[in-house]
Amino acid sequence: MKLYKIKRSKIDNKGRGLYASKDIKKGTKIINYLGKVITNKQADESDKYDNNKRIYLFSLNKKFSLDGDYSFNIAGLVNHSCEANSIYEGKGLKIWISAAKNIKKGEEITCDYGFGFDKNYKQFPCKCGSKNCCGFIVREESRWRINRKFSMSNKKN
Ligand SMILES: [Zn+2]
Repeated sequence: MKLYKIKRSKIDNKGRGLYASKDIKKGTKIINYLGKVITNKQADESDKYDNNKRIYLFSLNKKFSLDGDYSFNIAGLVNHSCEANSIYEGKGLKIWISAAKNIKKGEEITCDYGFGFDKNYKQFPCKCGSKNCCGFIVREESRWRINRKFSMSNKKN
């Protein structure tokens, strides 16, 4: 039995996400992240992988990346949350999603997309609705920079 169901999600504008179809224990592998392996050179040179599409691109190592921007990649529907309950894991050229904590049946499966903080971060607003949401899809270690920006602009007002 699959551990997930595809359902409408409040997080994503496109409207879909993955939901736990039963209780999932921490550490359980939930779904493989499928795609095509490309060289990092291809990723840098092709128009397909401009900043908008990087959302589905995983760097595997110095040479290769995994492009998950395909409709057969169901794991690509997993939404980002600032309070994610799952993580991307990988070995060699394979990537999958595992539960980072115990997930209850019916909960949406979410990951931290791990975007770095750069000038483009505003392209990716976050609507995860968690208490810690910083408003943009930025990886956890970089979020303090945005929070600091928020608090600085609040001070001015
Ligand atoms: Zn958020």
